[in-house]
Amino acid sequence: MKFLLFFAFIFGVLAYFRAAKRKEAYLKAQQHQQLKKTITMVKCEYCGTHIPEHEALIRHGHIWCDEEHERLGSHSTTA
Ligand SMILES: [Zn+2]
Repeated sequence: MKFLLFFAFIFGVLAYFRAAKRKEAYLKAQQHQQLKKTITMVKCEYCGTHIPEHEALIRHGHIWCDEEHERLGSHSTTA
């Protein structure tokens, strides 16, 4: 009888950890999906390339894909 209880306990603990792991993986996947959904694409004002907003350089209301295009683009707009 004690032996059976011991096995039931072990099984319960294993089931608990397996469920917790599955829940964690599910939450991670959901979070990743949410991140994918909320990416906003912006357009570089110099070359017209679309880039994710978090990778873009946004300075003084202008959007650039990198520092080179910021330099070239702001030079051409002020000149
Ligand atoms: Zn660019």
